[in-house]
Amino acid sequence: MPGILVFAEPDNGELRPEFWELMTVATKLAATDGEAVHVALAGWQLDSVLEALSHAEAAEVHVFEDERLADPWPEGNSAALAALCGAIKPKVVLLPRTPLGVETAARLAIQMGWSLLQDVTQVENGPQGITAVRPVFGGAVAATVKARQGPWVIVPRPRAFEAAQPQQAAVSLMHHYELVLPGPRQTHCGARTRHESGTGKNIERAPVLVSGGAGIGGPEPFTGLLEEIAGLMGGAVSASRVVCDSGWVPTALQVGLTGKTVAPDLYLAVGISGASQHLAGCSSAQAIAVVNIDKTAPFFHLANYGVVGDWKEVLPGLYDALKEKLQAGKSSA
Ligand SMILES: Cc1cc2nc3c(=O)[nH]c(=O)nc-3n(C[C@H](O)[C@H](O)[C@H](O)COP(=O)(O)OP(=O)(O)OC[C@H]3O[C@@H](n4cnc5c(N)ncnc54)[C@H](O)[C@@H]3O)c2cc1C
Repeated sequence: MPGILVFAEPDNGELRPEFWELMTVATKLAATDGEAVHVALAGWQLDSVLEALSHAEAAEVHVFEDERLADPWPEGNSAALAALCGAIKPKVVLLPRTPLGVETAARLAIQMGWSLLQDVTQVENGPQGITAVRPVFGGAVAATVKARQGPWVIVPRPRAFEAAQPQQAAVSLMHHYELVLPGPRQTHCGARTRHESGTGKNIERAPVLVSGGAGIGGPEPFTGLLEEIAGLMGGAVSASRVVCDSGWVPTALQVGLTGKTVAPDLYLAVGISGASQHLAGCSSAQAIAVVNIDKTAPFFHLANYGVVGDWKEVLPGLYDALKEKLQAGKSSA
């Protein structure tokens, strides 16, 4: 019986956390027809990733360990997945919405001639095939996509699904394969650079984002007050494109259509107008709070909480209140 195949992406020798969200989707899709969940892993020096995967609730893990896969390499990853798909014939393949995952998904779908569903926030496996929901027009509309012709390659949006819990000793079978390219190698990874916010947090995983726009007026507050507020809430700083283009913060902190897609528990947007290209990257946040001097700023239409005012007057009060709350929490503990 065809199964559900989950692509586990390693990151510097560790399993990327999105894997556990994919496992939630896989378990749900598999339950409809009682199908098995398989995991595919491609990379190099995979000991700790394999250890983590042994706790996944999957029937089988398929491993391609090859030095050529040490760097993110969509061509190699899609070749590995295509070979595996040819053998186990899954009904659905799930990949994470990372730069490697997105490109590998597209290559795999083209190679196999399968349907591709990107940036999915809901998914159902019904008698008519797969029905998925994905945000379009910068998150202003949720489109329901019915892809009747399977198999399906699905890329869920990060944090749109709960992470599955690792199990004690779940995996029963591990298979190891050799990576064979269908033709001569065509692509190579150039230099890799890791960008993080000043708090050292990846903005795609941070539970809280304090995001600044052009209204902040310059680079200093990003490493000052915004960073301090983010730190108090266990979060990170992010920014609009104007801010990144101005060189106030690294482009890795950009949220939006041409930046990162984030879905934190709280997105605090300060001095950002709310252009559709920005909203495309943050509309899946659990809660959005906006501070803007202009009460007609479009961001207020999406906000759960809004303050009309100058950030220079609003944020110091927020900082003091947060600090007081934290101190009160410590002294009552
Ligand atoms: C193809 C394409 C892709 C794009 N991709 C992205 C993307 O990925 N991410 C992205 O962000 N943008 C993207 N953009 C740009 C986008 O259209 C907007 O230009 C950008 O988001 C505006 O950034 P901003 O809101 O910071 O600046 P502005 O539009 O200049 O808004 C600044 C806001 O700050 C407020 N403000 C000013 N002073 C204060 C103050 N003292 N206190 C409080 N509020 C204040 C103003 O009222 C205003 O609302 C893209 C554009 C295109 C064409």
